Amino acid sequence: MQRYFANKVGENIILGDGDVHHLLHVMRAKKGDEIEAVADNKLYACIIESISPLVIKTNYEIPTDSELKEDVTLFFALAKGEKIDFVIQKATELGAGRIVLLKTERCVVKFEEKNLKHKLERFEKIAKEASEQSHRLRIPGIVGVVDIKNIPQDLLAEVNLIAYEKEAGQTDSLISHIEKGKTLSVMIGPEGGFSEEEVKTLVNKYGFVTVSLGKRILRTETAAVYALSVIGALLEK
Ligand code: SAH
Repeated sequence: MQRYFANKVGENIILGDGDVHHLLHVMRAKKGDEIEAVADNKLYACIIESISPLVIKTNYEIPTDSELKEDVTLFFALAKGEKIDFVIQKATELGAGRIVLLKTERCVVKFEEKNLKHKLERFEKIAKEASEQSHRLRIPGIVGVVDIKNIPQDLLAEVNLIAYEKEAGQTDSLISHIEKGKTLSVMIGPEGGFSEEEVKTLVNKYGFVTVSLGKRILRTETAAVYALSVIGALLEK
């Protein structure tokens, strides 16, 4: 059944403009049709009571359990082209609670201040659509762009991990640092990797722990998907 993220006011479900268009003109909804709406992290079965004006009422709550119990943040360095779109979509499907876009020394991509708002709106749309598709109850927040040298404290979790390619196959694996019941963040570097200076700062200033993602060097987008898959599998074991 078609599912939308919405606002709930009393028993009324209020859709955003894009979703109203989708419901009326793409789905060609009629009076009496049922839809599902997610509001306040809950899923509701709803009925369309009238089309003009559009009135949608909740019928009952559908119990559902599609969120990770622990809050997981992905820090992802600005990567080239479509990779950010890809990673936002996949991170959302894999249950990330928040995606923080990072500027690091070796990022080749730069976001101009004047384009940032437009880019973030686009990323938020990708996250919303991926949340709907993957039947999540929340849309991950997209935060950006944050300088790796200056990470706001409130973005950090209880356990903060950096996937460090120089440690590949030598250090603790990611698996050994995942703990149920604690908020977690994992940081993935850009195509050119992290500088030693950056890793030192992350460890000394912010208490990050370096981890390996295995013996092979993964592309940045593969590393993000790998890390979140492993985290999800262990947290939901
Ligand atoms: N150009 C670098 C690789 C960068 S890979 C080099 O050749 O060494 C991009 C990012 O993916 C890295 O910064 C790291 O965060 C992550 N990554 C990829 N493979 C990894 C591995 N085996 N262990 C830990 N992190 C890895």
